[in-house]
Amino acid sequence: MWNRQPNITGRNDPFSNAPRGRERLSAESVKCPTCAANITYMPEVKGMMCRNCGNIYDAETMEVLGSFGTGGEHDYVGEQDISAEDRRRHEILCNSCGAQLIADENTMSTMCPFCGSPALITRRMTREFKPDYIIPFKIDRDEASKNMMAWISSRKYTPWGFKSKCRLTKMTALYVPFWLLDCHVNTEMTGTGKYDRGASKVVYEVNSKLTYYVKGVPFDGATKIANKLMEAIEPFDYSELVKFDNKYLQGFYADKYDKRPIDLADKMFSRLDSFSVAETDLIAKKYDEYEARPEKTFSWMSDVKTRYCLLPVWFMTVEFEDRQYQFAVNGQTGEASGQMPTTSATDKMDFFNEMVSSNWKWIPIITAVVIPFILSSVLFQGNCSVSGFKTFWIVFLSALEIITIALIVLTFVGAFLSKHISKRIHKVADEVNDYDKDPGLDQYLDTTQKTSMKVEENYLGQFVKETSGNGPDIPDNIINTFVP
Ligand SMILES: [Zn+2]
Ligand SMILES: [Zn+2]
Repeated sequence: MWNRQPNITGRNDPFSNAPRGRERLSAESVKCPTCAANITYMPEVKGMMCRNCGNIYDAETMEVLGSFGTGGEHDYVGEQDISAEDRRRHEILCNSCGAQLIADENTMSTMCPFCGSPALITRRMTREFKPDYIIPFKIDRDEASKNMMAWISSRKYTPWGFKSKCRLTKMTALYVPFWLLDCHVNTEMTGTGKYDRGASKVVYEVNSKLTYYVKGVPFDGATKIANKLMEAIEPFDYSELVKFDNKYLQGFYADKYDKRPIDLADKMFSRLDSFSVAETDLIAKKYDEYEARPEKTFSWMSDVKTRYCLLPVWFMTVEFEDRQYQFAVNGQTGEASGQMPTTSATDKMDFFNEMVSSNWKWIPIITAVVIPFILSSVLFQGNCSVSGFKTFWIVFLSALEIITIALIVLTFVGAFLSKHISKRIHKVADEVNDYDKDPGLDQYLDTTQKTSMKVEENYLGQFVKETSGNGPDIPDNIINTFVP
């Protein structure tokens, strides 16, 4: 939806949506006033955005409108660049998975929290480490493990042995780097609304404008940690957010961010966007019939600000059947989440399916054809007189024929049933074992700022419902002729 600006003529032309008068400029000629990188017009922010430093500028005046900036962090060039504080820290690099952790000089590491590897290298800091804020740990290891196991125990259809493996895995206290996003979101949506008026329908073009502010929407800056996992243990209580101080890091690891806010901009757009879309659904309820026009719906952010902070997370990686599963407990609220593997027991139900679709199915079928053949040859051998020996064969082969046919029927019915039952169990298991749903944006709405929803109706026409015949009340293509 973010890119569905009206009148987009060419996606490659960065100025196709820019105000009049700037068309003469080419993308190459516009440089970021802060860092001199090339900048382009982004409809998502209704301004020129620098993908290098994250600043957003007004396309006309080049005045700063907001920023996805990181606030001055930089790589060390020489020994003199390293601050006294950073000298007291070291960086731990995992040789196996490439994770980069930061710890104070007294925190010894034995095992990588992401992959469990003991192959760790301790080295000098390579980049300034300056979080703006931190929420200190409140939940200790015992409580975190208790919550984690309670959550894991509540999961269903998990493979045998997985839960006990979780019980044996140690949790690591980790400060995870987060970018907290503050911004103003604007969404414009167009649709067609119809009211039932007895024998007729009244049709309106509906233009809605939704405006709201969000404060502190968290986005984790660590590639190693699944975004969905972090969303699942939200929210954190920001009333306990304090200015970063070295003392909070003692005895803990901090994960080093490897994604800057500007790298997460698209993720930010899409999270705000899906929230807007869900909110504008409220408009639809006003009408007897409502049809959204996605191509005439778009959103943009303004007054963008990000804050860099460390949030406390108890973290655990469990390796099972060559796959890694991440689990986390919110180190402040104790909320646990993760993603569980789904049991392979249901797969065994597919045994019948496989049999039916494989060559094995021919064995009972061929047997069923062969038996009457032998049976008839026994029956009509000689002069049709039935001896005791023949009676035995007839009874035996007939019984075998009945059993074989019953087996064929059972196999096919069983395959049909197991296919459907296992599909259902798989679906339920996947839903149950997936991450908990992300909490939306409701709790990040800034209530000190005005939230507004304006709905405008433009009368398009009135239609008399057809009462005879079986056709639709209003052909859909008629509506289109009323919309410019
Ligand atoms: Zn820049
Ligand atoms: Zn590792």
